[in-house]
Amino acid sequence: MRLGVDLGGTKIEAILMDRDGNIVERKRIATPRGDYGQTVLAIRDLIDDVSRDAPRSLPVGIGIPGTVSPATDLIKNANSTWLIGKPFDKDLEAAMKRPVRLANDADCFALSEAADGAGAGHTSVFGVILGTGVGGGVVINGKTVSGPNAIAGEWGHNALPWPESTEFPGPKCYCGKTGCIETWLSGPSLEQQARSKNLSGLSALEIAKAAQSGREDARALIELYTDRLARSLAGVINILDPNVIVLGGGLSAIGELYTLVPEKWGAHVFSDTVVTELVPNAHGDSSGVRGAAWLWPDTEAH
Ligand SMILES: [Zn+2]
Repeated sequence: MRLGVDLGGTKIEAILMDRDGNIVERKRIATPRGDYGQTVLAIRDLIDDVSRDAPRSLPVGIGIPGTVSPATDLIKNANSTWLIGKPFDKDLEAAMKRPVRLANDADCFALSEAADGAGAGHTSVFGVILGTGVGGGVVINGKTVSGPNAIAGEWGHNALPWPESTEFPGPKCYCGKTGCIETWLSGPSLEQQARSKNLSGLSALEIAKAAQSGREDARALIELYTDRLARSLAGVINILDPNVIVLGGGLSAIGELYTLVPEKWGAHVFSDTVVTELVPNAHGDSSGVRGAAWLWPDTEAH
């Protein structure tokens, strides 16, 4: 048995998962936005709810929109800003009286897909979130790679590679820099680009649908988007050379990414051929919470 929690900006989900990866119990509630104390209590109550038939000592894995700073043991890089600077794992352990492991939500996504999803059976998996933000996680031999700064896989805050003159210096990012990959590839960014092309009010998925139905302006936008994604992932392949790249987040539902991007990334990867696989996730919205549950090895999960 394993317990996992996915703490999102709008909802918190908790599961009890059996040894084979089947979800036995599942519950979700709205996130008490802006209230740290209530967030801790909400997670405690959710775990109480889903773990009624599980051992009291069962540890909990929690995916968070941020990470624990190895320098301070406090939360950093969280867009759920009320968590920043808090000893979240300590406070959760005190509230739940269970061992707690925290990990970045993109790392949890990558771990879930590597464990029994679209990356299963591969030595090296790069998990990508393309949603409100752009993040990533690295799993090698079934284990998440975190790094001494706990930022492994954070490609979204690298600059867009091989920029055209029109792409430089690029939009301002909330992180304080300009031209970050996230400012080009997030859902809100694509929708913003659509507004300047008479495609106002269309969501990212609606833009993709319009492109498929032959709308030229939408087609051009999707070509540009996939070109930027191809350049950005070529940078990842040049450094990590993963066996498989798994896409998650809302924009991963755009089917054309899986054909157009591999057609385009060869121009930028430092190799004669590129055999890297680009695949959609297998677990959809459940990947974050499943990956959180996988944070504890079965031997420790009783
Ligand atoms: Zn940034």
